[in-house]
Amino acid sequence: MRDMTLTVVHPEVDEEEYASLSVPTHRASTIVFGNAKAYAERGARDLDSYSYGMHGTPTQRILEAQLTALEGGLKTVVLPSGQAAIAAIFLAELTPGDHVLIAETAYPPVSGFCRNFLQTLGVTWSTYPPGVGAGIAEHVTPRTRLIWLESPGSTTMEVEDIPAIVAIARQKGIRTGIDNTWATPLLYKPLAQGIDYSMQALTKYPSGHSDILMGSVCVNDLALRKRLRDIMRMLGLHTAPDAITLVLRGLETMAVRLAHSGSVATGMLQEIAAAYPVEVLSPVLETCVGHDIWKRDFAGASGLFSVVLPEAWESRLDAALDSLQVIAIGASWGGTRSLIAPMTVAAHRSTHHPRNERTILRISIGLEDPADLRADLSRFFDLLAKA
Ligand SMILES: *Cc1c(COP(=O)(O)O)cnc(C)c1O
Repeated sequence: MRDMTLTVVHPEVDEEEYASLSVPTHRASTIVFGNAKAYAERGARDLDSYSYGMHGTPTQRILEAQLTALEGGLKTVVLPSGQAAIAAIFLAELTPGDHVLIAETAYPPVSGFCRNFLQTLGVTWSTYPPGVGAGIAEHVTPRTRLIWLESPGSTTMEVEDIPAIVAIARQKGIRTGIDNTWATPLLYKPLAQGIDYSMQALTKYPSGHSDILMGSVCVNDLALRKRLRDIMRMLGLHTAPDAITLVLRGLETMAVRLAHSGSVATGMLQEIAAAYPVEVLSPVLETCVGHDIWKRDFAGASGLFSVVLPEAWESRLDAALDSLQVIAIGASWGGTRSLIAPMTVAAHRSTHHPRNERTILRISIGLEDPADLRADLSRFFDLLAKA
């Protein structure tokens, strides 16, 4: 071969005694084939195999298999964001004329997707109130094809009785999916309770460092995996192997990070509830809707909880937020840094509740020294509480 060719053809090297604990980042658009027959038959390859970079490289297969093991499922697909994972499930299940029933407490962009996208395709949607349990039967319609759950609910943290909802859905031939981002499969395993689609935003605890967007869906049924992969292929939903390697790295420390943040958050939220005239929202507290279900179904708490501010405090909120020295102001969660984000939920709720009109602070506990976090939050709440 001449020089110009030698610059583009990589020599094969012996990898026989190469053993590393790290996962290699396999990047590819083109996959090449050993012979003409293999190329001609590439379309018949298994979904776990390789035919084009769009459908994943071995790096992605490792993440899929690792998530499948954690979820106790059969197959996992990986998508470029949590929101893309939710959209793929809805598109896999719903065709014109169908109805989807979503939790009123679902991550708000879910209803945005229903209103601004699915509705234009002739798919209708409605919401059910938190804590509905077997009462879900009153909310399904003859056209309902999918029930979308999130537990604990976004911002307000109500825990759902998943087995009760799944029992009714199964009876009526309706599929169920859940956003399990708060708990991750370490604290709750949806497939074991009969959920069809277990989704999580890997963006949060699994990636763990506030620098990656990614989502996953795990299922117990090859046909559902096929539908999801069909949607991903048609929409060109590809996830970069470099980002996948970083999620694989994040996963290695997730159990330790989650246990730490969960235990610090549990102590902190109990202190806040005892010290100030605020309503704290967390499944850890007996006052939370579904607290007993949480104790029954979950293996513990993650680091995310909310605090409802008294109306009289709201005028001092901006100054108090600006005084924070350790906790950063920002949405999202599950990273190393603690975050605080003021939220209002009224626009996304149809069930009346006085707190819908209040400012709710969503607090994510990270990995800083708990003493620094405690000092920051004390200063913050003292500023808010001063008359
Ligand atoms: C962040 C989040 C999502 C969306 O994940 P992205 O990767 O940001 O699109 C969905 N659901 C919940 C509960 C989330 O916290």
